[in-house]
Amino acid sequence: MPEKLVVGNWKMNGDLAANGSLLGRLASEWRDTKGRTMVVCVPAPYLAQARDTLSGSAVKWGAQDVSEHARGAYTGDVGASMVADLGGTFAIVGHSERRLWHGESDALVGAKAKAALAAGLTPIACVGEALDERERGDTETVVRRELDALLDAVGKDATRMIVAYEPIWAIGTGRTASPEEAQAVHATLRARLASGGAGNVPLLYGGSVKAANAAALLAMPDIDGALVGGASLDAEEFLRIGRA
Ligand code: PEP
Repeated sequence: MPEKLVVGNWKMNGDLAANGSLLGRLASEWRDTKGRTMVVCVPAPYLAQARDTLSGSAVKWGAQDVSEHARGAYTGDVGASMVADLGGTFAIVGHSERRLWHGESDALVGAKAKAALAAGLTPIACVGEALDERERGDTETVVRRELDALLDAVGKDATRMIVAYEPIWAIGTGRTASPEEAQAVHATLRARLASGGAGNVPLLYGGSVKAANAAALLAMPDIDGALVGGASLDAEEFLRIGRA
């Protein structure tokens, strides 16, 4: 069975007590499973809690965003080397919520992916179209533009990143892309990556993934895993997605 990666994105949710029980359950119940990797990307203040609670378990962890800068006078930002210093190994970059609420451009997302790679983290770089873009038939144009900006920024290090296709209309809406719709976009992304020698980059699908739909999505040939928002806050559901 090919390797599949299931990544939880908690977004801005959690507190010490709730995280303790969620991380504790993942640590004790997720068995190191051949062909499956489980990751949680937690809010920055809880990175150390993730490190401590997941220590010795098979669950990996990381951040939801990193600065494009290595260090310096950037109040409030979190440097990729800080996440790596704690022992984190992943960082989401370019989530649509950051593109939308923080005005992150394609170029900035590329710079963040580059900064994550420079610190030794694996960036999980998100791309995806809005509903009106899909309805206009612009899905491929949008995801290609976003991917090309990433590839321009990271160059030959593209082979060390992960790309997540997250149609914006499917995030937190309960409306999932069908396995066939997602596969079609993943095949486009795969072809573009392959033309640059990065055809083996893992491609995750994100957008209302639940235990009930995970197996069908993960069965698609170009879907190498899932980026899971809401359902990753429920230990039982997230573990079921990991086993799907
Ligand atoms: C996400 O936040 O990346 C996401 C896909 O959210 P949800 O699973 O809740 O749609």
